[in-house]
Amino acid sequence: MASMRQSTLFTKTRKEAPSDEVSKNAQLLIRAGFVHKEMAGVYSYLQLGRRVLTKIENIIREEMDKIGGQELRMSTLHPSEPWKQTGAWDGVDVLFKIQSRTEKEYALGQSEEEIVTPIAQQYVNSYKDLPIALYQIGQKYRDELRAKSGIMRGREFGMKDMYSFHTTQEDFDRYFEIVKSAYFTIYKRCELDAKATEASGGAFSEKISYEFMVLTDAGEDDILYCDKCDYCANIEVAKNKEGDTCPKCGNSMLKKAKAVEAGNVFDLGQKYPKAFNFTYKAEDGTDHYPIVGCYGMGTTRLMGTLVEVFADEKGIVWPEAVAPFRVHLVELGNGNADVSSEAAELYRELTSAGVEVLWDDRDARAGEKFADSDLIGIPLRVVVSEKTLAAGKFECVERKSKHTTHKSLQELIGHLTA
Ligand code: ATP
Ligand code: MG
Repeated sequence: MASMRQSTLFTKTRKEAPSDEVSKNAQLLIRAGFVHKEMAGVYSYLQLGRRVLTKIENIIREEMDKIGGQELRMSTLHPSEPWKQTGAWDGVDVLFKIQSRTEKEYALGQSEEEIVTPIAQQYVNSYKDLPIALYQIGQKYRDELRAKSGIMRGREFGMKDMYSFHTTQEDFDRYFEIVKSAYFTIYKRCELDAKATEASGGAFSEKISYEFMVLTDAGEDDILYCDKCDYCANIEVAKNKEGDTCPKCGNSMLKKAKAVEAGNVFDLGQKYPKAFNFTYKAEDGTDHYPIVGCYGMGTTRLMGTLVEVFADEKGIVWPEAVAPFRVHLVELGNGNADVSSEAAELYRELTSAGVEVLWDDRDARAGEKFADSDLIGIPLRVVVSEKTLAAGKFECVERKSKHTTHKSLQELIGHLTA
């Protein structure tokens, strides 16, 4: 993505968020100009927000591609027939149903098993065609009752959903572990510390599943976890309680915390292939239903989680990997032409070194520029002023640690491209 002058950015920061917005993530994202609220649970992503979301999506895309995922873009307007065929038309309470002006009815995609299973069926005939893993990154629609968590629980939201098809349970189990570790890699690249809950079955399937939890008071789930090992369980299903000795390592007492479900992986068994009569020919010529896994991860929820986890009293603090820009170049020139041309040169040099820069070239007071910069949350602020010009070094302030250093152009480029 490209560098940009802040004077051309169409959004401006705001002092106040809408009064009906209760969540910290949406308040900050709206004030800083990342998102625009359309109604409860529905947000538009503006230039800054779109940049962050695209980076999150690209991290997920890279990790899914590495484990053999093939990306699709499935429709979000669904025919009603497959939903009726699996029983989900009447069985899924969050499904949005649309009445056409003709007799026809449609569903808005809340998940894609009903779409991906018939697609796979079209191309899988023999055991030689398996395994496959198909995924997409796109919009989902759910008629959620509560939408009070800002972008963390939307009625329209972004999700990566992947579906894998296997010949044997062993092959499925093997892939399941691979996806689990790819999930941990994704959270780590976003600087999040995620815990996988103990395997459990759910209403969705009697088979095994895991949820990936990130600790934050903005989460809607209560979990028990151990800080000496990786034990983590959802309180609803846990056999233990707070203060009990950790059942896994025995070294510590279980703690209770609020957490957000940042993703999950499910063994769906043969439910969907059976509903669509989707079989493949095994080596001995007999017909079998494939075993299916599904793997969800909310992209917009992940963005909201990052805001909740890292924000401080001044505003958002983005991890480097997903920040809308790497450097916030703040020019404090008060009309001084030397300062302006120094800022312009720095902007050109950093940009040609592959660094994304937001250049605050606006005619505004220092206090206002710093407050906006803190609110927007770009990892490194570089100040160019008469003072830095005289010193021959730029003032560099890390958003997260507030750590300040003074660097020449070459030192700065070295630091950013190391
Ligand atoms: P929850 O229990 O939080 O409602 P879920 O069990 O319904 O989540 P899935 O249907 O498995 O979740 O969806 C996969 C992922 O999509 C979740 O792990 C979460 O990250 C995200 N997600 C689910 N519902 C929403 C929503 N309403 N808004 C934003 N993200 C969501
Ligand atoms: Mg749900």
